[in-house]
Amino acid sequence: MSDIRDDVTEGFEHVHGYAPLGIWSAPGRVNLIGEHTDYNEGFVLPFAINRRTVVALGVRDDSRMNVASEFADEMAGIPLAELAPSRLEGWSAYPLGVAWALGEAGADLAAVPGVDLYIESTVPVGAGLSSSAAIESAVAVALDEVWQLGLDRPALARAGQLAENKAVGAPTGIMDQSASLLGQDDHAVFLDCRSLQSELVPLGFAEAGLELLIIDTGVSHDHSTGGYADRRASCEAGAAGMGVSSLRDLSADDLPRARETLDDETFRRVRHVVTENQRVLDTVRVLRSEGPTAIGDLLDASHLSMRDDFEISVPELDLAVETAQANGAIGARMTGGGFGGAAIALVPASGISRIQVAIDGAFAEHGFSQPTMFTVTASNGAQRDR
Ligand code: ADP
Ligand code: MG
Repeated sequence: MSDIRDDVTEGFEHVHGYAPLGIWSAPGRVNLIGEHTDYNEGFVLPFAINRRTVVALGVRDDSRMNVASEFADEMAGIPLAELAPSRLEGWSAYPLGVAWALGEAGADLAAVPGVDLYIESTVPVGAGLSSSAAIESAVAVALDEVWQLGLDRPALARAGQLAENKAVGAPTGIMDQSASLLGQDDHAVFLDCRSLQSELVPLGFAEAGLELLIIDTGVSHDHSTGGYADRRASCEAGAAGMGVSSLRDLSADDLPRARETLDDETFRRVRHVVTENQRVLDTVRVLRSEGPTAIGDLLDASHLSMRDDFEISVPELDLAVETAQANGAIGARMTGGGFGGAAIALVPASGISRIQVAIDGAFAEHGFSQPTMFTVTASNGAQRDR
């Protein structure tokens, strides 16, 4: 099997005409539980996965930044001094936006050297596994090192988020970048999105004979134009209606008052966030006390809350989840921002093929296109590879 680090080196040389200085990579992530809680200053529990975006970087003798990707036909570039969100568009807004955001975080873009980048990835795009955070985080660690910025991981996560919010125009939270930058082998990243404090929580899937199966429905979503921004606005309206600065400040005890105060739709949006925060806390507690075989009910409950209260599921995701549950999964839920993308199922390693066959069959029966299924393991966050 060819090594992606060799491939990206060759790709870099082909596009830019010289050998790269180094190679950095960052993983995609899967969110075990805690959906649409991040921008409500709540809790999330993602982990970095064994699929990565790899960046080869070379330093230029001028002050231009050029980016190319196996994924795209054309190279894009801009003088560093001209970087601004309004000047960026398309896929290159992710890597160029990170450079701009590092400038906002204190990098002197008039003084740092120009760079050439070439990017390859094994993170599927638009599957809810955050190929966006993978590219942002890989570029962020690479630029931080060659520009000698000395920013810590939370600061790099904020730069990735700023790039995605302002340069790409997707109002996403800090979870994805945090997982991609802070992840560790066999651990989930328990993140408090208010304080930005994080703790690593041992997952122990392999030890318990479990695997995490991703079922990518292939239904595509688009965070910048889809329902994501709409849900975010509902959460803000709910918080305003309840007189709190964010939904993090509400607990289950506040739900009766929320039901009286808010319209039904806003109430259900709020109830999802409030109960989902509690499910994250419960999952962390159960993982630590009883281990992963005991978290199934929490995963199942999370899916119902997203399907019925937050209304971000689609029939393909519901079918994947229900079929996994009916065929021996410990628990299952859709994951990611919703409106498509992937579901996850925590499954006994010995029963995985039965579940895959059942899901394939159910999708065929419903006339849905065949989903892509693969397992992921919890892996290390962004790093220099060469
Ligand atoms: P995801 O759920 O995968 O994060 P997003 O819509 O948030 O989906 O981000 C996907 C976008 O990120 C792609 O459409 C592309 O613009 C950019 N992107 C991700 N990976 C790469 C890559 N390897 N090369 C170029 N662009 C990428
Ligand atoms: Mg994304």
